[in-house]
Amino acid sequence: DAWQYQWEPGSFAGRIIMVTGAGDGIGRAAALALGKAGATVILLGRTQEKLEQVYDQILAEGGAKPAMVPANLEVTTAANFEELAGLLMDEFGHLDGLLHNASVLGDLTPLDTYGYGTWDTVMQVNVNAAFYLTRALLPLLRAADHASVVFTSSSVGRQGRAFWGAYAVSKFATEGLMQVLADELENTTQVRVNSLNPGGTRTRMRALAYPGEDPQTLRTPEQILPVYMYLLGAASVGITGQAFDAQPPRG
Ligand code: NDP
Repeated sequence: DAWQYQWEPGSFAGRIIMVTGAGDGIGRAAALALGKAGATVILLGRTQEKLEQVYDQILAEGGAKPAMVPANLEVTTAANFEELAGLLMDEFGHLDGLLHNASVLGDLTPLDTYGYGTWDTVMQVNVNAAFYLTRALLPLLRAADHASVVFTSSSVGRQGRAFWGAYAVSKFATEGLMQVLADELENTTQVRVNSLNPGGTRTRMRALAYPGEDPQTLRTPEQILPVYMYLLGAASVGITGQAFDAQPPRG
C-alpha cells in the first residue's frame, strides 16, 4: 500500500511540482525528495533564506534547477496569485503537481477566549490562500497530461478536538475544499485531488503544539514521504477525492 510506496530514482523527471511551505519541516523534505527524483520543484515559502538552502541542496544533489517564490500567504492577494500563475504559464506551460503544505498553528486555547486576529490569520493562511492559489493554478493543472493536487490535513481536521480552535476548523475546511474540487473535476479532466494527514511528525510546528513531547518518539519528515510521493506521482493516477494518512495508526 501507499505507506510502503517506493519511488524509482528519476521517476519525477520532467515533472513540474509546486510545494508550499517548502523551506522547513515536511514541505522541505518533500521538496528535496521531489528534486532528487528529477522534478522541477517550485518552492513557495515565507522565508527566502530557507528557500535558498533547499534550492542549493537540490542542485547539489543533482536535481533540476528549482524555482523560488518567496511569499507570505498571510498577505498574498488573489491578484498576486493570478500574476504568479501567468509567470508560471509562460515559463512552464503546465503544472503536474501542487502540494498545499504551508500552514500555521495559531493558538491552542478555548474558543471562548480565542483571539479574533489569530482566527483570521489561521483561516487566511490555511484556507483562503490555498483556495486562491488552487483557483489561479487550475489552468496550468488542466494543461498537464495528468496532475495531482494534495491538500495537507490533520487528525483534528477529521474529528474536532478541544482547544485546537481555528487550526482544526481550517483543516475541516481544507477537507471540504478537497472534496468539492475533486467532485467538480471527476470525469472531466486529468486532475486528481486528495487530502493527506501527515500524523505526528518531528517538526517545529509539532514542537509548538506539544512542548512536553520527546521529538525522538516521532517519525521524521523524511520517514513519512512515501504517501506524499505516491500521491504526487504517476502511481496514483485515477485516485481522487480521498482522505489519506501518511502514517499507519499508532498502536
Ligand atoms: P512547519 O512549521 O515545520 O513548516 C511549515 C512551513 O510552512 C514552513 O516552511 C513555513 O515557512 C511555511 N509557512 C507558514 N506560514 C506561512 C505563510 N504565511 N506564508 C508562507 N509560508 C508559510 O510545519 P510542518 O512541516 O509540521 O507542517 C506541514 C503541514 O503538515 C502543515 O499543513 C501542518 O498543518 C501539517 N501537519 C503537521 C503535523 C506534524 O506533526 N508536524 C501533524 C498534522 C498536520 P517558514 O519556515 O518560513 O516560517
